[in-house]
Amino acid sequence: MLKASGLAALGLGFTGCATRTPSLLQPGTNPRIQLASLNASWNRVIRTTVGLRPYRPSGFVVRAEKLDNKTLVHNYGHGGAGHSLAWGTGSLAADLVSEAATQSDRRVAVLGCGVVGLTAARQLQRRGFEVTIYTLSVPPNTTSDKAWAGFTPTSRAVAIGGRTPAWDTQFRQAVEISYRELQLLAGPNYGITWIDDYAMTDEVRVSRSPEARAEAGLLPAHLQMGTELLGPGEHPFPSTYVNRGTRMRIEPSIYLEALVRDVTQFGGRIVIRKFDTLPDLMSLPEPIVVNSTGLGSRTLFGDEELTPVKGQLTFLVPQPELNYILFGVLRTSEGGLMPITVMPRRDGIALGTTGERGVWTLEPDEETRRRTVEAHIALSNIMRSPRPHTVVARSQRLGKVPALETFFDLES
Ligand SMILES: Cc1cc2nc3c(=O)[nH]c(=O)nc-3n(C[C@H](O)[C@H](O)[C@H](O)COP(=O)(O)OP(=O)(O)OC[C@H]3O[C@@H](n4cnc5c(N)ncnc54)[C@H](O)[C@@H]3O)c2cc1C
Repeated sequence: MLKASGLAALGLGFTGCATRTPSLLQPGTNPRIQLASLNASWNRVIRTTVGLRPYRPSGFVVRAEKLDNKTLVHNYGHGGAGHSLAWGTGSLAADLVSEAATQSDRRVAVLGCGVVGLTAARQLQRRGFEVTIYTLSVPPNTTSDKAWAGFTPTSRAVAIGGRTPAWDTQFRQAVEISYRELQLLAGPNYGITWIDDYAMTDEVRVSRSPEARAEAGLLPAHLQMGTELLGPGEHPFPSTYVNRGTRMRIEPSIYLEALVRDVTQFGGRIVIRKFDTLPDLMSLPEPIVVNSTGLGSRTLFGDEELTPVKGQLTFLVPQPELNYILFGVLRTSEGGLMPITVMPRRDGIALGTTGERGVWTLEPDEETRRRTVEAHIALSNIMRSPRPHTVVARSQRLGKVPALETFFDLES
């Protein structure tokens, strides 16, 4: 079904770390890099997961308000960037707690035990607060466990409606703090690693969407990682070129457990409790409450701007020798498009990553799963084929294809 000459690919690697620009030097002059091929087949599929990103068009919320005799500090609405921004917004929330706290009472309640609640709890503990996390669910049963989890700070997190200079400042502070914290934790204990990523493309220049250009202006210059372009013969992928960059990857199954361990080792408690109404909060003994309930804030605090963005991943058996991220699109001889996203982890290789706005169901979509697996089997067959493939076609723009966003999340 797939013809090598009919393959096309798109440089999707630019859209998440939207700031990357290709640094084309002299493609075609370097030796071919040796990379393990993806080994995909239906027999190797081990699970499909769904998570609902807590998306707000106005961006995340970090602010304090009074609730009778308590101080309530909000820290929620991170969209597709909770893993990337949580240490930073947790630090901003902890600053607000410090302003409101008295020396005589250092108790703080944190609502929620996803990545945002856990990192806020650690930032508070580092400032000497006694933290209790109250939560309905704990890892591995949070949205944070269902993430693709690359460092993608602008993914569905940047305010697109009514951005204010104050919010931009918060975002920049949060991303700087998070980037530093994640780097300091990099290593096997926290499941954070640097990894090369490759974006298949048949075009030398990849133009960015207006959103991506706007987002790019928000990131500090030193976070705008460059890429290099590899030409024909220099890479093993079915595209004319690939853009190679590097990215931090977070493995939620390791990272979230490590954060839970740290919170409890530093004296924190985790209490399973669901809050249905605001008066429920008044029964808490702590004078200060940090709200990190993610999408739960829609019901609990009446924030109707919060919208789910459903994300589905399908996992293959791990391949320890496969140590790169891959993005792109394969084109079938009938003109169909097969989005490719490969994210290797110790608990499996995550394929695909969807983004369906306003969809509340946690049920996997069978058709999406089928298309995702088949696209990656096609890639696997091409990469493992003994015959070298020749790709000469220039791609057509992906933007002509309707409804693709429901199939492929551009967060990466
Ligand atoms: C497919 C997918 C891919 C993603 N990829 C990335 C990525 O590459 N990079 C990135 O940075 N981010 C990514 N994300 C986004 C990231 O996962 C979210 O931004 C992040 O998980 C939000 O964290 P949270 O702690 O706010 O929410 P959650 O993890 O949902 O945690 C909320 C917590 O609040 C609790 N809670 C909620 N309501 C109540 C209540 N009423 N009473 C008591 N407790 C309550 C819940 O039980 C839970 O413990 C991705 C998400 C998905 C689904």
